Amino acid sequence: MELIIKELKDIVGSQYVSAEPEELFFYSRDQGTMPPVEPDAVVMPKTTKEVSKIMLLANKSKTPVIPMGGGLVLSGLSRALKGGIILDLKRMNQIISVNPHSRYAILEGGASQGMLQSYLKKNFPQLKHSMPDAPPIATLAGNICIHGSGHLSVLGGFHSDMLNGMEVVLPTGEIIRTGSCSVSKDWISKAPLPDLSGLFLGWSGTTGIVTKLAIKLFPNYRFNDLLIFVCEDADIMPDVISRLTSTQIAEDMTPWMTPKPYWAKGFLHINISYGAHTKKELIFKRNLLQSSVRFYIDKKEAGFLPLPPPQKKRFLKIPSPDLVRFADIRKGGGFEYVGAIMAIEHFAKAYHAGLEIAEKYDVSYSLGARIIGAGHAMMFFFAYAFNRADKEDIKRAQKALESTNKAALDIGGIPWKAEEPAQKQIISKMDPETFDFIKRIRMMLDPNDIMNPGNWEK
Ligand SMILES: Cc1cc2nc3c(=O)[nH]c(=O)nc-3n(C[C@H](O)[C@H](O)[C@H](O)COP(=O)(O)OP(=O)(O)OC[C@H]3O[C@@H](n4cnc5c(N)ncnc54)[C@H](O)[C@@H]3O)c2cc1C
Repeated sequence: MELIIKELKDIVGSQYVSAEPEELFFYSRDQGTMPPVEPDAVVMPKTTKEVSKIMLLANKSKTPVIPMGGGLVLSGLSRALKGGIILDLKRMNQIISVNPHSRYAILEGGASQGMLQSYLKKNFPQLKHSMPDAPPIATLAGNICIHGSGHLSVLGGFHSDMLNGMEVVLPTGEIIRTGSCSVSKDWISKAPLPDLSGLFLGWSGTTGIVTKLAIKLFPNYRFNDLLIFVCEDADIMPDVISRLTSTQIAEDMTPWMTPKPYWAKGFLHINISYGAHTKKELIFKRNLLQSSVRFYIDKKEAGFLPLPPPQKKRFLKIPSPDLVRFADIRKGGGFEYVGAIMAIEHFAKAYHAGLEIAEKYDVSYSLGARIIGAGHAMMFFFAYAFNRADKEDIKRAQKALESTNKAALDIGGIPWKAEEPAQKQIISKMDPETFDFIKRIRMMLDPNDIMNPGNWEK
Protein backbone atom coordinates (compact mmCIF):
# COMPACT_ATOMS: atom_id res chain seq x y z
CA MET A 1 0.00 0.00 0.00
CA GLU A 2 2.86 2.35 0.77
CA LEU A 3 4.10 2.00 -2.80
CA ILE A 4 0.61 2.50 -4.19
CA ILE A 5 0.12 5.61 -2.08
CA LYS A 6 3.40 7.00 -3.40
CA GLU A 7 2.28 6.39 -6.99
CA LEU A 8 -1.14 7.90 -6.28
CA LYS A 9 0.61 11.03 -4.99
CA ASP A 10 2.61 11.18 -8.23
CA ILE A 11 -0.65 11.09 -10.21
CA VAL A 12 -2.80 13.62 -8.32
CA GLY A 13 -0.40 15.54 -6.06
CA SER A 14 0.39 14.64 -2.46
CA GLN A 15 -2.27 16.87 -0.88
CA TYR A 16 -5.01 14.85 -2.61
CA VAL A 17 -4.10 11.43 -1.22
CA SER A 18 -4.56 10.47 2.39
CA ALA A 19 -4.19 7.46 4.61
CA GLU A 20 -4.47 9.51 7.80
CA PRO A 21 -6.65 7.81 10.46
CA GLU A 22 -8.99 10.78 10.94
CA GLU A 23 -9.73 10.88 7.21
CA LEU A 24 -10.16 7.10 6.97
CA PHE A 25 -12.58 7.35 9.91
CA PHE A 26 -14.94 9.59 7.94
CA TYR A 27 -14.59 7.64 4.71
CA SER A 28 -15.45 4.39 6.50
CA ARG A 29 -19.13 5.24 7.14
CA ASP A 30 -22.30 6.85 5.89
CA GLN A 31 -25.42 7.92 7.82
CA GLY A 32 -27.18 4.56 7.48
CA THR A 33 -27.06 1.40 9.59
CA MET A 34 -24.26 -0.41 7.78
CA PRO A 35 -21.19 -0.94 9.98
CA PRO A 36 -18.09 1.17 9.22
CA VAL A 37 -15.30 -0.34 7.10
CA GLU A 38 -12.02 1.51 6.74
CA PRO A 39 -10.40 1.93 3.33
CA ASP A 40 -6.61 1.85 3.00
CA ALA A 41 -6.45 5.26 1.33
CA VAL A 42 -8.50 8.04 -0.19
CA VAL A 43 -7.67 9.78 -3.46
CA MET A 44 -9.23 12.87 -5.06
CA PRO A 45 -8.42 13.18 -8.78
CA LYS A 46 -9.09 16.34 -10.78
CA THR A 47 -9.22 15.03 -14.36
CA THR A 48 -10.42 12.03 -16.35
CA LYS A 49 -6.79 11.30 -17.28
CA GLU A 50 -5.90 11.08 -13.60
CA VAL A 51 -8.83 8.71 -13.00
CA SER A 52 -7.60 6.56 -15.88
CA LYS A 53 -4.07 6.44 -14.46
CA ILE A 54 -5.43 5.50 -11.03
CA MET A 55 -7.41 2.64 -12.60
CA LEU A 56 -4.36 1.39 -14.49
CA LEU A 57 -2.39 1.37 -11.25
CA ALA A 58 -5.20 -0.31 -9.30
CA ASN A 59 -5.70 -2.91 -12.01
CA LYS A 60 -1.97 -3.75 -12.13
CA SER A 61 -1.77 -4.07 -8.35
CA LYS A 62 -5.25 -5.65 -8.00
CA THR A 63 -6.28 -2.97 -5.52
CA PRO A 64 -10.02 -2.36 -4.99
CA VAL A 65 -11.35 1.05 -6.01
CA ILE A 66 -14.62 2.44 -4.70
CA PRO A 67 -16.11 5.45 -6.51
CA MET A 68 -17.75 8.03 -4.29
CA GLY A 69 -19.72 11.20 -4.96
CA GLY A 70 -21.48 12.85 -2.03
CA GLY A 71 -21.34 9.61 -0.03
CA LEU A 72 -24.99 10.13 0.92
CA VAL A 73 -26.53 6.96 -0.44
CA LEU A 74 -27.37 5.81 3.15
CA SER A 75 -27.00 2.11 2.32
CA GLY A 76 -23.22 1.96 2.66
CA LEU A 77 -22.52 1.45 -1.05
CA SER A 78 -19.29 3.42 -1.06
CA ARG A 79 -17.66 1.60 1.84
CA ALA A 80 -14.46 -0.33 1.07
CA LEU A 81 -15.87 -3.79 1.87
CA LYS A 82 -12.60 -5.46 0.79
CA GLY A 83 -10.25 -2.58 1.61
CA GLY A 84 -8.55 -0.51 -1.11
CA ILE A 85 -8.89 3.06 -2.31
CA ILE A 86 -11.90 5.33 -2.11
CA LEU A 87 -11.91 7.48 -5.23
CA ASP A 88 -13.67 10.65 -4.17
CA LEU A 89 -14.88 12.62 -7.20
CA LYS A 90 -15.70 15.92 -5.46
CA ARG A 91 -12.84 17.80 -7.13
CA MET A 92 -14.23 16.95 -10.58
CA ASN A 93 -17.10 19.35 -10.13
CA GLN A 94 -17.24 21.51 -13.26
CA ILE A 95 -20.45 22.36 -15.03
CA ILE A 96 -19.03 22.17 -18.54
CA SER A 97 -21.85 23.61 -20.61
CA VAL A 98 -25.59 24.09 -20.90
CA ASN A 99 -27.51 23.75 -24.14
CA PRO A 100 -30.63 25.89 -23.69
CA HIS A 101 -32.28 24.81 -26.95
CA SER A 102 -31.92 21.06 -26.74
CA ARG A 103 -32.17 21.50 -22.95
CA TYR A 104 -29.32 19.56 -21.40
CA ALA A 105 -26.28 20.18 -19.22
CA ILE A 106 -22.87 18.51 -19.43
CA LEU A 107 -21.16 18.07 -16.08
CA GLU A 108 -18.18 16.40 -14.50
CA GLY A 109 -18.72 13.26 -12.42
CA GLY A 110 -18.37 15.04 -9.06
CA ALA A 111 -20.65 18.03 -9.78
CA SER A 112 -23.29 18.30 -7.10
CA GLN A 113 -27.05 18.83 -7.28
CA GLY A 114 -26.72 22.11 -5.39
CA MET A 115 -24.05 23.41 -7.78
CA LEU A 116 -26.16 22.76 -10.85
CA GLN A 117 -29.26 24.19 -9.16
CA SER A 118 -27.54 27.48 -8.31
CA TYR A 119 -25.69 27.63 -11.67
CA LEU A 120 -28.99 27.37 -13.56
CA LYS A 121 -30.70 29.86 -11.28
CA LYS A 122 -27.96 32.39 -12.01
CA ASN A 123 -27.26 31.73 -15.70
CA PHE A 124 -30.32 29.98 -17.16
CA PRO A 125 -33.30 30.89 -14.94
CA GLN A 126 -35.64 29.55 -17.63
CA LEU A 127 -34.32 26.01 -17.00
CA LYS A 128 -34.21 23.53 -14.12
CA HIS A 129 -33.14 19.96 -13.47
CA SER A 130 -34.78 17.25 -11.38
CA MET A 131 -33.40 17.35 -7.82
CA PRO A 132 -33.60 14.51 -5.30
CA ASP A 133 -34.47 15.48 -1.73
CA ALA A 134 -30.96 14.50 -0.68
CA PRO A 135 -28.69 17.21 0.78
CA PRO A 136 -27.42 19.41 -2.11
CA ILE A 137 -23.85 18.04 -1.89
CA ALA A 138 -25.13 14.75 -3.41
CA THR A 139 -23.74 14.36 -6.93
CA LEU A 140 -25.70 13.94 -10.14
CA ALA A 141 -23.48 11.03 -11.21
CA GLY A 142 -23.91 9.20 -7.88
CA ASN A 143 -27.66 9.65 -8.04
CA ILE A 144 -28.02 8.63 -11.68
CA CYS A 145 -25.77 5.59 -11.14
CA ILE A 146 -28.28 4.29 -8.58
CA HIS A 147 -31.44 5.13 -10.61
CA GLY A 148 -32.43 7.96 -8.24
CA SER A 149 -35.59 10.03 -8.57
CA GLY A 150 -36.64 13.56 -7.70
CA HIS A 151 -38.96 16.51 -8.02
CA LEU A 152 -39.54 16.14 -11.78
CA SER A 153 -39.91 12.37 -11.77
CA VAL A 154 -43.59 12.38 -12.70
CA LEU A 155 -42.56 14.37 -15.75
CA GLY A 156 -39.35 12.56 -16.66
CA GLY A 157 -39.18 9.23 -14.81
CA PHE A 158 -36.08 8.01 -12.99
CA HIS A 159 -33.06 10.31 -13.18
CA SER A 160 -31.34 7.63 -15.23
CA ASP A 161 -34.16 8.13 -17.80
CA MET A 162 -33.07 11.78 -18.01
CA LEU A 163 -29.49 10.80 -18.88
CA ASN A 164 -28.28 11.64 -22.40
CA GLY A 165 -24.81 10.13 -22.28
CA MET A 166 -21.67 9.58 -20.23
CA GLU A 167 -17.90 9.45 -20.30
CA VAL A 168 -16.77 6.45 -18.26
CA VAL A 169 -13.36 5.20 -17.15
CA LEU A 170 -13.40 1.42 -17.21
CA PRO A 171 -11.79 -0.67 -14.47
CA THR A 172 -8.98 -1.38 -16.95
CA GLY A 173 -8.30 2.35 -17.48
CA GLU A 174 -9.85 2.87 -20.95
CA ILE A 175 -12.02 5.93 -21.40
CA ILE A 176 -15.27 5.28 -23.27
CA ARG A 177 -18.43 7.23 -24.11
CA THR A 178 -22.08 6.23 -24.17
CA GLY A 179 -24.81 7.87 -26.23
CA SER A 180 -24.67 10.43 -29.02
CA CYS A 181 -21.47 12.03 -27.60
CA SER A 182 -19.52 8.97 -28.77
CA VAL A 183 -20.17 10.10 -32.37
CA SER A 184 -21.12 13.76 -32.26
CA LYS A 185 -20.18 16.85 -30.27
CA ASP A 186 -23.82 17.02 -29.19
CA TRP A 187 -24.75 15.11 -26.02
CA ILE A 188 -28.43 14.95 -26.94
CA SER A 189 -29.55 11.36 -26.35
CA LYS A 190 -28.76 7.71 -25.76
CA ALA A 191 -30.56 6.81 -29.01
CA PRO A 192 -30.09 5.66 -31.74
CA LEU A 193 -26.92 3.77 -30.77
CA PRO A 194 -26.55 0.48 -28.87
CA ASP A 195 -27.27 1.67 -25.32
CA LEU A 196 -24.10 1.17 -23.32
CA SER A 197 -25.27 3.38 -20.46
CA GLY A 198 -27.05 0.43 -18.91
CA LEU A 199 -23.67 -1.17 -18.18
CA PHE A 200 -23.14 1.50 -15.51
CA LEU A 201 -26.64 2.26 -14.19
CA GLY A 202 -27.86 0.35 -11.15
CA TRP A 203 -24.51 -1.44 -10.66
CA SER A 204 -23.50 0.53 -7.51
CA GLY A 205 -20.14 1.57 -8.91
CA THR A 206 -19.03 -2.00 -9.70
CA THR A 207 -18.45 -1.55 -13.44
CA GLY A 208 -16.78 1.83 -14.05
CA ILE A 209 -16.33 5.44 -13.01
CA VAL A 210 -18.55 8.11 -14.55
CA THR A 211 -16.35 11.14 -15.16
CA LYS A 212 -18.75 13.20 -17.32
CA LEU A 213 -22.43 13.06 -18.06
CA ALA A 214 -25.20 14.97 -19.77
CA ILE A 215 -28.64 15.28 -18.26
CA LYS A 216 -31.89 16.67 -19.52
CA LEU A 217 -33.14 20.06 -18.33
CA PHE A 218 -36.75 21.19 -18.17
CA PRO A 219 -38.57 24.53 -18.49
CA ASN A 220 -38.71 26.46 -15.25
CA TYR A 221 -42.10 27.89 -14.41
CA ARG A 222 -42.69 31.41 -13.16
CA PHE A 223 -45.48 30.25 -10.87
CA ASN A 224 -45.29 27.11 -8.77
CA ASP A 225 -47.99 25.65 -6.62
CA LEU A 226 -48.82 22.65 -4.49
CA LEU A 227 -51.96 20.77 -3.58
CA ILE A 228 -52.16 18.34 -0.69
CA PHE A 229 -54.74 15.62 -1.10
CA VAL A 230 -55.76 13.87 2.14
CA CYS A 231 -57.59 10.63 2.83
CA GLU A 232 -57.55 7.81 5.37
CA ASP A 233 -57.97 4.77 3.17
CA ALA A 234 -54.82 3.29 1.59
CA ASP A 235 -56.96 1.09 -0.67
CA ILE A 236 -58.13 4.07 -2.74
CA MET A 237 -54.62 5.38 -3.32
CA PRO A 238 -53.85 3.56 -6.63
CA ASP A 239 -57.07 4.90 -8.17
CA VAL A 240 -56.44 8.40 -6.80
CA ILE A 241 -52.87 8.35 -8.17
CA SER A 242 -54.13 7.09 -11.51
CA ARG A 243 -56.75 9.86 -11.74
CA LEU A 244 -54.23 12.56 -10.78
CA THR A 245 -51.50 11.36 -13.14
CA SER A 246 -53.93 11.01 -16.04
CA THR A 247 -54.21 14.83 -16.10
CA GLN A 248 -50.45 14.91 -16.93
CA ILE A 249 -50.07 18.14 -14.99
CA ALA A 250 -48.05 17.30 -11.87
CA GLU A 251 -44.28 17.49 -11.94
CA ASP A 252 -43.91 15.57 -8.69
CA MET A 253 -46.30 13.48 -6.61
CA THR A 254 -45.32 12.17 -3.21
CA PRO A 255 -47.81 10.30 -1.04
CA TRP A 256 -46.74 10.24 2.63
CA MET A 257 -47.84 9.41 6.14
CA THR A 258 -45.96 10.19 9.28
CA PRO A 259 -47.20 9.57 12.83
CA LYS A 260 -45.68 12.84 14.07
CA PRO A 261 -47.13 15.30 14.86
CA TYR A 262 -49.67 13.02 16.54
CA TRP A 263 -52.71 14.63 14.84
CA ALA A 264 -51.31 13.63 11.43
CA LYS A 265 -51.13 9.91 12.24
CA GLY A 266 -53.22 7.79 9.92
CA PHE A 267 -53.86 10.55 7.39
CA LEU A 268 -52.48 9.76 3.97
CA HIS A 269 -51.36 12.85 2.11
CA ILE A 270 -50.32 13.29 -1.49
CA ASN A 271 -48.19 16.33 -2.22
CA ILE A 272 -48.84 17.30 -5.82
CA SER A 273 -46.60 20.00 -7.25
CA TYR A 274 -47.15 21.70 -10.55
CA GLY A 275 -46.25 24.94 -12.24
CA ALA A 276 -47.35 27.37 -14.95
CA HIS A 277 -46.10 30.32 -16.94
CA THR A 278 -49.11 32.48 -16.08
CA LYS A 279 -51.54 32.76 -13.17
CA LYS A 280 -54.42 31.90 -15.46
CA GLU A 281 -52.70 28.67 -16.53
CA LEU A 282 -51.97 27.84 -12.88
CA ILE A 283 -55.63 28.17 -11.90
CA PHE A 284 -56.68 26.09 -14.90
CA LYS A 285 -54.24 23.34 -13.91
CA ARG A 286 -55.30 23.43 -10.25
CA ASN A 287 -58.96 23.06 -11.26
CA LEU A 288 -58.15 20.12 -13.50
CA LEU A 289 -56.16 18.33 -10.78
CA GLN A 290 -58.92 18.92 -8.22
CA SER A 291 -61.70 17.81 -10.51
CA SER A 292 -59.84 14.59 -11.41
CA VAL A 293 -60.48 13.31 -7.84
CA ARG A 294 -63.86 15.00 -7.27
CA PHE A 295 -65.43 11.53 -7.10
CA TYR A 296 -63.76 10.95 -3.69
CA ILE A 297 -64.37 14.49 -2.44
CA ASP A 298 -68.09 14.23 -3.25
CA LYS A 299 -68.23 10.91 -1.39
CA LYS A 300 -66.62 12.71 1.59
CA GLU A 301 -63.80 10.19 1.62
CA ALA A 302 -61.09 12.74 0.92
CA GLY A 303 -60.27 16.41 0.63
CA PHE A 304 -57.58 18.97 -0.02
CA LEU A 305 -55.66 20.44 2.91
CA PRO A 306 -55.91 24.23 3.03
CA LEU A 307 -52.35 25.53 3.27
CA PRO A 308 -51.39 28.93 4.67
CA PRO A 309 -48.83 30.65 2.37
CA PRO A 310 -45.76 30.21 4.67
CA GLN A 311 -46.52 26.48 4.99
CA LYS A 312 -46.93 26.18 1.22
CA LYS A 313 -43.62 27.93 0.68
CA ARG A 314 -41.90 25.38 2.92
CA PHE A 315 -43.50 22.46 1.05
CA LEU A 316 -42.38 23.94 -2.27
CA LYS A 317 -38.71 24.12 -1.22
CA ILE A 318 -36.40 21.92 -3.28
CA PRO A 319 -34.83 19.82 -1.81
CA SER A 320 -37.45 19.38 0.89
CA PRO A 321 -36.15 20.44 4.33
CA ASP A 322 -38.63 18.12 6.05
CA LEU A 323 -36.87 14.87 5.13
CA VAL A 324 -33.64 16.05 6.68
CA ARG A 325 -35.58 17.09 9.77
CA PHE A 326 -37.15 13.63 9.94
CA ALA A 327 -33.67 12.10 9.67
CA ASP A 328 -32.77 13.71 12.98
CA ILE A 329 -36.02 12.93 14.79
CA ARG A 330 -34.26 10.58 17.25
CA LYS A 331 -31.27 12.95 17.41
CA GLY A 332 -27.89 11.59 16.33
CA GLY A 333 -28.77 11.92 12.64
CA GLY A 334 -29.25 8.25 11.76
CA PHE A 335 -31.62 7.64 8.87
CA GLU A 336 -32.09 4.87 6.35
CA TYR A 337 -34.92 3.74 4.17
CA VAL A 338 -35.93 0.89 1.99
CA GLY A 339 -37.07 2.50 -1.22
CA ALA A 340 -38.77 -0.25 -3.14
CA ILE A 341 -39.53 0.18 -6.81
CA MET A 342 -42.97 -1.33 -7.23
CA ALA A 343 -46.26 -1.25 -9.08
CA ILE A 344 -48.68 1.43 -7.87
CA GLU A 345 -51.46 -1.10 -7.18
CA HIS A 346 -49.35 -2.49 -4.29
CA PHE A 347 -49.62 0.77 -2.36
CA ALA A 348 -51.97 -0.49 0.39
CA LYS A 349 -50.05 -3.76 0.89
CA ALA A 350 -46.77 -1.87 1.21
CA TYR A 351 -48.32 0.68 3.56
CA HIS A 352 -49.77 -1.93 5.91
CA ALA A 353 -46.53 -3.96 5.85
CA GLY A 354 -44.61 -0.80 6.82
CA LEU A 355 -46.98 -0.05 9.73
CA GLU A 356 -46.69 -3.63 11.01
CA ILE A 357 -42.89 -3.65 10.81
CA ALA A 358 -42.54 -0.24 12.49
CA GLU A 359 -44.74 -1.40 15.36
CA LYS A 360 -42.96 -4.75 15.70
CA TYR A 361 -39.49 -3.19 15.94
CA ASP A 362 -40.61 0.01 17.71
CA VAL A 363 -38.87 2.33 15.24
CA SER A 364 -39.58 5.97 14.33
CA TYR A 365 -40.97 5.78 10.85
CA SER A 366 -42.28 7.65 7.88
CA LEU A 367 -44.02 5.88 4.99
CA GLY A 368 -44.71 7.11 1.49
CA ALA A 369 -43.79 7.05 -2.15
CA ARG A 370 -42.61 9.04 -5.11
CA ILE A 371 -44.57 8.47 -8.30
CA ILE A 372 -42.34 7.70 -11.27
CA GLY A 373 -43.35 8.71 -14.78
CA ALA A 374 -46.97 9.47 -15.58
CA GLY A 375 -48.01 6.76 -13.13
CA HIS A 376 -45.79 3.95 -14.42
CA ALA A 377 -44.32 2.84 -11.07
CA MET A 378 -43.50 4.18 -7.64
CA MET A 379 -40.59 4.25 -5.28
CA PHE A 380 -42.29 3.27 -2.02
CA PHE A 381 -40.22 4.36 0.97
CA PHE A 382 -40.18 2.87 4.44
CA ALA A 383 -37.93 5.32 6.31
CA TYR A 384 -36.58 4.67 9.79
CA ALA A 385 -34.74 7.22 11.90
CA PHE A 386 -32.37 6.21 14.70
CA ASN A 387 -29.79 7.66 17.03
CA ARG A 388 -26.33 6.81 15.73
CA ALA A 389 -24.94 7.01 19.25
CA ASP A 390 -27.32 4.30 20.46
CA LYS A 391 -26.32 0.76 19.42
CA GLU A 392 -29.67 -0.75 20.41
CA ASP A 393 -31.50 1.83 18.31
CA ILE A 394 -29.30 1.00 15.31
CA LYS A 395 -29.94 -2.73 15.76
CA ARG A 396 -33.69 -2.17 15.86
CA ALA A 397 -33.54 -0.13 12.65
CA GLN A 398 -31.35 -2.78 10.98
CA LYS A 399 -33.87 -5.51 11.83
CA ALA A 400 -36.73 -3.36 10.58
CA LEU A 401 -34.87 -2.69 7.30
CA GLU A 402 -34.08 -6.38 6.77
CA SER A 403 -37.67 -7.32 7.38
CA THR A 404 -38.87 -4.50 5.10
CA ASN A 405 -36.62 -5.65 2.25
CA LYS A 406 -38.14 -9.11 2.54
CA ALA A 407 -41.68 -7.73 2.67
CA ALA A 408 -41.04 -5.50 -0.37
CA LEU A 409 -39.73 -8.46 -2.38
CA ASP A 410 -42.72 -10.60 -1.30
CA ILE A 411 -45.11 -7.88 -2.47
CA GLY A 412 -43.40 -7.82 -5.88
CA GLY A 413 -41.20 -4.76 -5.39
CA ILE A 414 -37.43 -4.48 -5.71
CA PRO A 415 -35.38 -2.69 -3.05
CA TRP A 416 -33.59 0.27 -4.64
CA LYS A 417 -29.94 1.16 -3.90
CA ALA A 418 -29.94 -1.98 -1.81
CA GLU A 419 -27.36 -2.34 0.94
CA GLU A 420 -25.11 -5.39 0.67
CA PRO A 421 -27.32 -7.84 2.68
CA ALA A 422 -30.38 -6.67 0.69
CA GLN A 423 -28.50 -7.24 -2.58
CA LYS A 424 -28.16 -10.88 -1.50
CA GLN A 425 -31.93 -11.04 -0.83
CA ILE A 426 -32.55 -9.70 -4.35
CA ILE A 427 -30.06 -12.11 -5.95
CA SER A 428 -31.71 -15.07 -4.19
CA LYS A 429 -34.98 -14.12 -5.95
CA MET A 430 -33.37 -13.33 -9.29
CA ASP A 431 -33.64 -15.69 -12.20
CA PRO A 432 -30.25 -17.60 -11.96
CA GLU A 433 -29.38 -17.29 -15.65
CA THR A 434 -29.81 -13.53 -15.42
CA PHE A 435 -27.50 -13.39 -12.41
CA ASP A 436 -24.90 -15.51 -14.28
CA PHE A 437 -25.13 -13.07 -17.18
CA ILE A 438 -24.55 -10.15 -14.80
CA LYS A 439 -21.46 -11.94 -13.43
CA ARG A 440 -20.10 -12.51 -16.95
CA ILE A 441 -20.56 -8.87 -17.93
CA ARG A 442 -18.82 -7.79 -14.75
CA MET A 443 -15.93 -10.17 -15.38
CA MET A 444 -15.57 -8.84 -18.92
CA LEU A 445 -15.44 -5.23 -17.73
CA ASP A 446 -13.44 -5.88 -14.58
CA PRO A 447 -11.26 -8.97 -15.03
CA ASN A 448 -9.35 -8.40 -11.78
CA ASP A 449 -12.45 -7.79 -9.67
CA ILE A 450 -11.32 -4.41 -8.36
CA MET A 451 -14.47 -2.27 -8.77
CA ASN A 452 -16.31 -1.84 -5.48
CA PRO A 453 -15.96 -5.58 -4.70
CA GLY A 454 -18.25 -7.16 -2.13
CA ASN A 455 -21.31 -5.67 -3.81
CA TRP A 456 -23.69 -7.68 -5.99
CA GLU A 457 -22.05 -10.97 -5.05
CA LYS A 458 -23.70 -14.15 -3.80
C1 LIG B 1 -32.26 13.28 3.59
C2 LIG B 1 -32.05 12.46 2.35
C3 LIG B 1 -33.00 12.51 1.34
C4 LIG B 1 -32.81 11.76 0.16
N1 LIG B 1 -33.73 11.88 -0.83
C5 LIG B 1 -33.51 11.27 -2.03
C6 LIG B 1 -34.41 11.48 -3.13
O1 LIG B 1 -35.38 12.23 -3.04
N2 LIG B 1 -34.14 10.83 -4.29
C7 LIG B 1 -33.04 10.04 -4.44
O2 LIG B 1 -32.83 9.51 -5.52
N3 LIG B 1 -32.20 9.82 -3.42
C8 LIG B 1 -32.40 10.40 -2.22
N4 LIG B 1 -31.52 10.19 -1.18
C9 LIG B 1 -30.47 9.16 -1.32
C10 LIG B 1 -29.10 9.67 -1.81
O3 LIG B 1 -28.60 10.62 -0.94
C11 LIG B 1 -29.13 10.26 -3.19
O4 LIG B 1 -29.58 9.30 -4.12
C12 LIG B 1 -27.79 10.84 -3.66
O5 LIG B 1 -28.06 11.58 -4.82
C13 LIG B 1 -26.72 9.86 -3.98
O6 LIG B 1 -25.66 10.59 -4.57
P1 LIG B 1 -24.21 10.62 -3.92
O7 LIG B 1 -23.37 11.54 -4.72
O8 LIG B 1 -24.30 10.91 -2.44
O9 LIG B 1 -23.80 9.11 -4.17
P2 LIG B 1 -22.78 8.20 -3.37
O10 LIG B 1 -23.36 7.81 -2.06
O11 LIG B 1 -21.44 8.85 -3.33
O12 LIG B 1 -22.70 6.94 -4.34
C14 LIG B 1 -23.81 6.14 -4.62
C15 LIG B 1 -23.36 4.90 -5.42
O13 LIG B 1 -22.91 5.30 -6.70
C16 LIG B 1 -21.52 5.00 -6.89
N5 LIG B 1 -20.95 6.18 -7.53
C17 LIG B 1 -20.91 7.45 -7.05
N6 LIG B 1 -20.36 8.27 -7.95
C18 LIG B 1 -20.04 7.51 -9.02
C19 LIG B 1 -19.43 7.78 -10.27
N7 LIG B 1 -19.07 9.00 -10.62
N8 LIG B 1 -19.23 6.73 -11.12
C20 LIG B 1 -19.61 5.48 -10.79
N9 LIG B 1 -20.19 5.18 -9.63
C21 LIG B 1 -20.41 6.18 -8.76
C22 LIG B 1 -20.96 4.71 -5.52
O14 LIG B 1 -19.91 3.78 -5.55
C23 LIG B 1 -22.18 4.14 -4.81
O15 LIG B 1 -22.32 2.80 -5.12
C24 LIG B 1 -31.68 10.92 0.02
C25 LIG B 1 -30.73 10.88 1.04
C26 LIG B 1 -30.90 11.65 2.19
C27 LIG B 1 -29.83 11.62 3.23
